[in-house]
Amino acid sequence: MSETIFDKIIRKEIPSQIEYEDEEILAFKDIEPKAPFHVLIIPKKDIPTVNDITEADAELVGKIFIVAAKLAKKYGIDEKGYRLVFNCNEDAGQTVFHLHCHFMGGRKMLWPAG
Ligand code: 5GP
Repeated sequence: MSETIFDKIIRKEIPSQIEYEDEEILAFKDIEPKAPFHVLIIPKKDIPTVNDITEADAELVGKIFIVAAKLAKKYGIDEKGYRLVFNCNEDAGQTVFHLHCHFMGGRKMLWPAG
């Protein structure tokens, strides 16, 4: 697996604003926020894209959604709503090849996303 900027964030070699952390998951503020609440929720395990998720990762990936719901509650937007996005490869605009969920909320979202 090739090293990404997120591996350095996991190891705290470069700073980030951490919103949630446990043994398997890290959530930190996106450096270029596209919404009032824009957090990246990532597994600490190296999984480059959605295509690389295996059956063995099912519980780990499920935890990403549990953390998203926790963050929504923490921010007080669980009832109002929020968006979760996984970009996979070029057409979706993925730029960092370490699986991440964009948690975005705090404003009205447009649909389709574009
Ligand atoms: P992608 O385009 O791969 O779905 O999303 C990658 C996201 O990572 C982008 O929204 C970008 O702003 C964010 N990002 C890239 N480098 C850093 C960084 O060094 N720190 C933080 N906090 N976010 C980053």
